[in-house]
Amino acid sequence: MNLADSEIVTAILTDGGFVRAGDEASADVVLLNSCAVRENAEERLGNILTQLKGRKRRQRELVVGVLGCVPQFERERVFSDFPFVDFIVGPDNYRELAGIIENSREQKRLASLDYDQQETYAGIDPVRTGSISAFLPVMRGCNNYCAFCVVPVTRGRERSVGYERVLAEVAALAASGFREVTLLGQNVNSWRDAEKSLDFAGLLDGVSQAAPSMRIRFTTSHPKDISEALVKVIAARPNLCNHIHLPVQSGSSRMLDLMKRGHTREEYLDRIAMIRRHIPDAAITTDLIAGFCTETEEEHRETLSLMEAVGYDTAFMFHYSVRPGTWAARNLPDDVPEALKKRRLQEIIELQNAMSREIYRREIGKTVEVLAEAESRRSSLQLMGRTKTNRAVVFSRGEFNAGDTLLVKITGATSATLTGEAVS
Ligand code: SAM
Ligand code: SF4
Repeated sequence: MNLADSEIVTAILTDGGFVRAGDEASADVVLLNSCAVRENAEERLGNILTQLKGRKRRQRELVVGVLGCVPQFERERVFSDFPFVDFIVGPDNYRELAGIIENSREQKRLASLDYDQQETYAGIDPVRTGSISAFLPVMRGCNNYCAFCVVPVTRGRERSVGYERVLAEVAALAASGFREVTLLGQNVNSWRDAEKSLDFAGLLDGVSQAAPSMRIRFTTSHPKDISEALVKVIAARPNLCNHIHLPVQSGSSRMLDLMKRGHTREEYLDRIAMIRRHIPDAAITTDLIAGFCTETEEEHRETLSLMEAVGYDTAFMFHYSVRPGTWAARNLPDDVPEALKKRRLQEIIELQNAMSREIYRREIGKTVEVLAEAESRRSSLQLMGRTKTNRAVVFSRGEFNAGDTLLVKITGATSATLTGEAVS
């Protein structure tokens, strides 16, 4: 989402007469688009700002701005910890950026953090970082208020980009040669077009027909909102990728209740069974949090057993970090000791790696369709691409180039990458 936002910011600034610098050292304006979801993302922002402090001392005219979720909910802290920061701008205020940069030469500590519940940045044509695969935000904000999560505070209430607009943007991407688009939303299944009485299943159906030559992906789906109608659309349309990211967070119903996720372990497993009924070869991935408030050893083991029951392709795995302003920060004790959180996370990671290795190993010998994205990092004789299930494949390229869709015979596998040879 931040990458997509940075592409929007680049478009706004290009329109305002700015030019993207070749590298950070030659830039006279440095903008950091920040993430507040977990503590370590915020720490990384702090580390980069600490490095910039010295440069700002040497180069007085350097302008430094912090954008996105961190200033939106920790405004005072950005300025008090890093007094040299010239301005802060929240996720709904990027249209003002060019003016703010100009004004920052006279005025110090400018802040633009008003929520705008209508803002979807519709009408802005993002300056894309790639030419094969594009991100397209179709909604912003989140209404779910999961107990641990800062997103509803930083990004405000849900709002959707209209149906016609999404279709036009996807058609424009296809016309300019993009081969894949990922529709983005914090809770993308909540996408709605009230005027057209359409839900996300209707949008996916429309998008898949508007761009039959493109692969269509989407993220993130919330388990309580993924409908059978949606899964049937994915099963029916070959250009809708058979990969579903369905964050579960925990395998314990008591934890899920405390997290305010709106479903139990059993309901989640029912959804997985429903997905597999319609799309037997679907790759399912997830997000997991270790050591949420009051989690017992038994409840942690329920997470491990749920992982085994589902057989996730891959997972994003985190240990819980308290986020100020969330329901959990105000109402629940952060009582799982740090060392225990880390040990539980390690167990989760080890189990996932073993399962991924096995799932990937089972691909050896198959011939799979791959969209080639780029040369592999190791050799110009190899390309890197992805299957429809979103598995990374590195293969000897033969006559093929980035942007081609081709068949690859899989000959090897690790827990994160398949290797193979181009067939046709
Ligand atoms: N909207 C998506 C959903 O509900 O599934 C997830 C969006 S959230 C920005 C990405 C992931 O970050 C979450 O699924 C969760 O696993 C993790 N996360 C969010 N807050 C966290 C926290 N306080 N500590 C650790 N992980 C957290
Ligand atoms: Fe955060 Fe929950 Fe919204 Fe996901 S659904 S962004 S975890 S509040």
